[in-house]
Amino acid sequence: MERLQDYFRALADLLFPRACLVCGSRLGIHERHLCLSCAADVPYTHFWRQSHNPMADRFNAVLERHRGTERMAYAYAAALMYYKGPYRSIPRALKYHGDLSAGQFYGALLGRRLASAPHFADVDLVIPVPLHWSRRWSRGYNQAEVLARALAEALSSTGRSSPPSVGGLVAAGRAAGLVSAHDTGLLSGPGTVCRTDLLVRARRTRTQTRLSVEEKARNVASAFRVPERSGTMDRLRRWAIRVIGNMLHIPRDPFDWESPCTVLSSARHIVLVDDTFTTGATLYACYAALRPYTSARISIATLAVVEGTPSGIEGSPSTGP
Ligand SMILES: [Zn+2]
Repeated sequence: MERLQDYFRALADLLFPRACLVCGSRLGIHERHLCLSCAADVPYTHFWRQSHNPMADRFNAVLERHRGTERMAYAYAAALMYYKGPYRSIPRALKYHGDLSAGQFYGALLGRRLASAPHFADVDLVIPVPLHWSRRWSRGYNQAEVLARALAEALSSTGRSSPPSVGGLVAAGRAAGLVSAHDTGLLSGPGTVCRTDLLVRARRTRTQTRLSVEEKARNVASAFRVPERSGTMDRLRRWAIRVIGNMLHIPRDPFDWESPCTVLSSARHIVLVDDTFTTGATLYACYAALRPYTSARISIATLAVVEGTPSGIEGSPSTGP
């Protein structure tokens, strides 16, 4: 079977050659996204191993500035890799070149890293930073959502197993366009779920590329809000998942059918997901929108992090929404 797979992969590579995202060299049959030599040098942060790390300190410093007298749980933070050198091409491939497969691959990798960290063990809700509907429509996808779904699925499936009978019905749901591959996490019972209906971008913001730290913060402040009820497509998708789940007597997603406010108030540990962490302004704006609805710990996870200090940022990446 493996031989047959190799054969098809070799044939696909012959017809549609794949290139390394970093150096551009042609990939071998067992290489995914990066060639072996680039894969050996990925600047991983290893932040998931430390509950307190430079990225978490930077984000908590932002929270501290806005917090006033309120006392809230420390926000944990982790990024998979540093945003530097030629490796910047990995988040860029996802964000600007539509490489969803790389996003899913590295989102899942980050999810498995978080799953190995005790301080992320109680994560039950993953929320991607939303795009304004018009930007999502023009790009065709939300890069943070691609990462968040893969991350939630990896967190959910680590140490869990799906009932074997699920496969066929999920395939039917998928064929009808109602169930995505990522919803299989929901069908395996209570675990970590990714929800895109709990936070919306209420207004379109300027691209952040050339803004100063203060301008970035002003640009995204109050851009996000929690809607009163989920959108029609979200409700339709959850209805399909529920019908399949009932037929298989699978324990229901504990958050199913509740209003966004109720879901948020019953969550234990929420992880906000974005592609790149620079000043933390966008993630803070999301945090501030969610905070009135929940007392859960709210942590953050990103694919890449720009090195810097709470007051200054080194380098200047493209971090527009
Ligand atoms: Zn390479």
